[in-house]
Amino acid sequence: MPLSRLFRFHVLTGGAVLLTGLVLSGCADARTSARVPETRLPMAPPVNENDQRFADWLTEFRLEAMKAGITGATFDRAMRDVAPDEDVVAADQNQPEFVKPVWDYLKGALSDKRVARGKALLVENKALLDRIEKAYGVDRSVVVAIWGLESNYGDHMGTQNVVRSLATLGFEGRRPEFGRAQLIAALKIIQAGDIQPEEMLGSWAGAMGQTQFIPTTYLAHALDFDGDGRRDIWHSTADTLASTAHYLQVSKWQTGGHWGFEVAMPAHFDYALADMSLTKSIAEWSKLGLKRADGRAFPATDTEETASLLLPAGYKGPAFLVLNNFRSILVYNASTSYALAVSLLSDRFKGMGEIKRGWPYDERPLTRSEREELQALLTAKGYDHGKADGIIGYNTRKAIRSYQQSVGLPPDGYPTASLLERMRTN
Ligand code: CA
Repeated sequence: MPLSRLFRFHVLTGGAVLLTGLVLSGCADARTSARVPETRLPMAPPVNENDQRFADWLTEFRLEAMKAGITGATFDRAMRDVAPDEDVVAADQNQPEFVKPVWDYLKGALSDKRVARGKALLVENKALLDRIEKAYGVDRSVVVAIWGLESNYGDHMGTQNVVRSLATLGFEGRRPEFGRAQLIAALKIIQAGDIQPEEMLGSWAGAMGQTQFIPTTYLAHALDFDGDGRRDIWHSTADTLASTAHYLQVSKWQTGGHWGFEVAMPAHFDYALADMSLTKSIAEWSKLGLKRADGRAFPATDTEETASLLLPAGYKGPAFLVLNNFRSILVYNASTSYALAVSLLSDRFKGMGEIKRGWPYDERPLTRSEREELQALLTAKGYDHGKADGIIGYNTRKAIRSYQQSVGLPPDGYPTASLLERMRTN
């Protein structure tokens, strides 16, 4: 795709796209139609195949949007200057070769600066957080921790225009149906008057504002908590924090419950049990020899709750029993490293959350090509894991466990450089 041409297209044919929109516009929305310039004239037609493809896509998408309840006026107002964004295409296609080890990620997430600022904001916003906690029953420390990790407390909301990013993803993203569905949701938000399209800023993938909600999440869960009539997760701290608490509440947050605990592992343990897809009660885990790493007893209220054993860096690193509230955080963002960072940050605000066990610093995580090589080796050795895509999912972990068991290693299903080295020779 010659991306520079897409930019030229923006300059040359923006007017032509607008004209198409205006001709098709059936019903005018009084609030937004006044903003559409009246004197636009048709400009040069699209100059190449890709330009024509985007113009065709916009025409087709406009019909889809109108079927979903977007007025022609809203569509034309929001989309009038939109052209594909090459940065978004590049970000969408980039599958990074290197991943940060989880300990480096947590070091940044739990920096002294982030902890100190969160503590100060908890004090500063006490009255507001009292009301939010009363309304939604979610621990204020977790709400503020999410705020701290999603946007560094509102500092980094992303600078991309969300409408443009989503139009790009809908037109030529790896998951165009995602881009289109999110763009329609974004247009609904604009149509409701919550935000002007040019102020709708976020990440290249369409995560918006201080809570980094994607448009469908915003539509379902964002709130106007300061009562000004607009759900504003870009500028209003009240709307931001209440929307986050509300999203956790509907994600089955249990009021007064814990997220989980770091645990000390017994000398002999079947590490095949360490998988987020497997749950046992705290009482059952206790019987298997797991204890809290800080030496305290598990709270009596949690003993019947189901928990999973999470080993973020394999059996050589820290171990955590994670409870239902941890899964509520995973609804926000499906990465266990993220949910652990939120959980530990919320504990740090309370003067806790230090990890007792050291990390296995000598076990660096595999690069993308090494993960693909590991999957190829698993196949060659007869361990079926599904598609060789470089992604360590459930099936790959299962295949790794089988290999580990066959050579007498603890079957934690965790891929490391030393495991790959062993597989190359054995
Ligand atoms: Ca508001």
